Amino acid sequence: MSRPLLAIIGAGPAGLIAAEHLAAVADVHIFDRMAAPARKFMLAGRGGLNLTHSEPLDRLLLRYRNAAPSLREAIRAFPPEALRAWADGLGAETFVGTSGRVFPKVMKASPLLRAWLTRLGGLGVTLHTRHDWAGWAEDGALRFNTADGEKRVTARATLLALGGASWPRLGADGSWMRFFDADEVAPFQPSNMGFHVAWSDHLRNRFAGQPLKRIAATFGGQTVRGEATIADWGIEGGVIYTLSAPIRDAITATGPVEITLDLRPDLPESALPLGGGGKSLSNLLRNAGLTPPAAALVQEARHAGVTLPLPKLIKALPIRLERPAGLERAISSAGGVRWGAVGRNFMLHRHPGVFAAGEMLDWEAPTGGYLLQGCLSSGVAAAEAMRNWLEQ
Ligand SMILES: Cc1cc2nc3c(=O)[nH]c(=O)nc-3n(C[C@H](O)[C@H](O)[C@H](O)COP(=O)(O)OP(=O)(O)OC[C@H]3O[C@@H](n4cnc5c(N)ncnc54)[C@H](O)[C@@H]3O)c2cc1C
Repeated sequence: MSRPLLAIIGAGPAGLIAAEHLAAVADVHIFDRMAAPARKFMLAGRGGLNLTHSEPLDRLLLRYRNAAPSLREAIRAFPPEALRAWADGLGAETFVGTSGRVFPKVMKASPLLRAWLTRLGGLGVTLHTRHDWAGWAEDGALRFNTADGEKRVTARATLLALGGASWPRLGADGSWMRFFDADEVAPFQPSNMGFHVAWSDHLRNRFAGQPLKRIAATFGGQTVRGEATIADWGIEGGVIYTLSAPIRDAITATGPVEITLDLRPDLPESALPLGGGGKSLSNLLRNAGLTPPAAALVQEARHAGVTLPLPKLIKALPIRLERPAGLERAISSAGGVRWGAVGRNFMLHRHPGVFAAGEMLDWEAPTGGYLLQGCLSSGVAAAEAMRNWLEQ
């Protein structure tokens, strides 16, 4: 008996891991509009591929905010330990960094991806690049635009793993939304992004691109330690990304918000070394251990008329965030296929036999490995549900 044909559309991490789990039971074909698979995964590896996080599962699940109940089962079934074992099995041995984040020892994505694609090839999975999914034909066949014109594929079951809408030039641009009914999808919003700030010309010209190391940022009662970077349009980087979802939601609700930066989080206010070495502000800030970009932020606040005493300014420097940066610069996106449009098995209610996984589902999480963990766990869960579907 010939094996059933399964279509997976989207060759990112969610689609690729699903293919791996389905290859034993079906003739698996992966389609992607780009010339090469997993472009975003490759980019993710450029700054150090953060595969998952080592914190306890209950804490990890909280990172998915209100999507946690929908992702819980999938993440429990393919938790961080399983992900690490899977990466190890592909020769990408992992380690836990000081922050609890998990990385492959080589830090990059390319060796892991190469081994992964070789494994998939060995399992008989076929990858079709430059196949741009264009929705369904009247008979339910999948339509693809290719260099040779339109191709139609009839599959026993389909997994959509089309990604979100950040960094659209890497393939996932969210244009698949037009094939869904309006009530099945939530509009995309940037997630893990920077925010626009009305810097003075002086700060913009002198300090754009410079890092603010070992700082803490506070918004809405949550404080995060790490780094940020001054951009000519605003501020971005780790601490900002971690707080970005509640900040974005607050700006949407009520307009620009203020966050505070602690420029010496390792010292209490009373221990700041502010004496001696001359009385100019720049000398005082240098004595207090501030780097030039951190000192420039304090000077900027003073020039803007912020009258707080210096120790307070160093420990709780107010920064007004005007609006989020756009999807094209965001690490990830919020929005996508609503949880109400899929069952617990990730199958679309309105398209029996069609499943969805990865970032195209409506969830978001901070950076820290939670994004790939969510994509890979949902890919595995959707694959298991597809196997059950085939057996029916
Ligand atoms: C700069 C950067 C750094 C990152 N670093 C990390 C990190 O360190 N750790 C982490 O956990 N996450 C990181 N991420 C996020 C992570 O890469 C994504 O969450 C993940 O790749 C999403 O996987 P996915 O399979 O759901 O979608 P994607 O990886 O986006 O794959 C979707 C695929 O679908 C294809 N596609 C879309 N539409 C169509 C169509 N109509 N027809 C055919 N094909 C289509 C696309 O070409 C793409 O190949 C980073 C992201 C960025 C941008």
